[in-house]
Amino acid sequence: MVYLLFLLNIQAYLNSFFPMVNEVNEYNMEEQIKKMQEFFHLNITGMLDTETMEVMNQPRCGVPDVSEWSEFPGTPTWDKTFLTYRINNYTPDMPRNKVDEAIAKAFKVWSDVTPLKFQKTMKRADIEIWFASGAHGDFHPFDGRGNVLAHAYAPGDGIGGDAHFDEDEKWSETNRGFNLFIVAAHEFGHSLGMGHSNVRGALMYPTYSYTNSDTFSLSEDDMQGIQALYEASANSGEVWQ
Ligand SMILES: [Zn+2]
Ligand SMILES: [Zn+2]
Repeated sequence: MVYLLFLLNIQAYLNSFFPMVNEVNEYNMEEQIKKMQEFFHLNITGMLDTETMEVMNQPRCGVPDVSEWSEFPGTPTWDKTFLTYRINNYTPDMPRNKVDEAIAKAFKVWSDVTPLKFQKTMKRADIEIWFASGAHGDFHPFDGRGNVLAHAYAPGDGIGGDAHFDEDEKWSETNRGFNLFIVAAHEFGHSLGMGHSNVRGALMYPTYSYTNSDTFSLSEDDMQGIQALYEASANSGEVWQ
């Protein structure tokens, strides 16, 4: 029974983050494990060895790492450079002004290297931010403490661009629990159209690691990723408002 539960968890992990299916629409666990091992630069054994299990247990983002459709070109991006965001509710883990600060700073990571500008609003916004536990109105319920920390949607109408943070986590402005600035900066990467990077140390790497927000700097990999999406527009000679 314990073993069965264990396997169900593994399958759930693989189906969430490596949702590739074969020609007859079936998951193949060994192939999914291999894809995962390839992504995380592990030994590609197709087996649940210790290093693979260790990665599976790391706290991470809820957005898939490799899915068959993500390999197609044509990442959605915003067709405007002025974007609004709204903080719909606040985590009780931090003072409100610290949440505002962490979120503003996370947007600044991206506005510093693109023509994008972000404005906080109380009205309906392009990027709606929520703290929520468990099932919260989309098809991706959160999973309680640990594992998935947050997820965000690629640019688009409605839920597009929105970022959700798991309220069952302990959020902070320091290295205790999970640092909201770091997780938010990563999620807003998705809100702008970025996928996961398999470059360790990149902000868009799927697992969480703490960095001091005062000394944080965007990696070369993240920079190339976001500028491939937005810098071309900046250089097109149009006036951006
Ligand atoms: Zn992510
Ligand atoms: Zn959600």
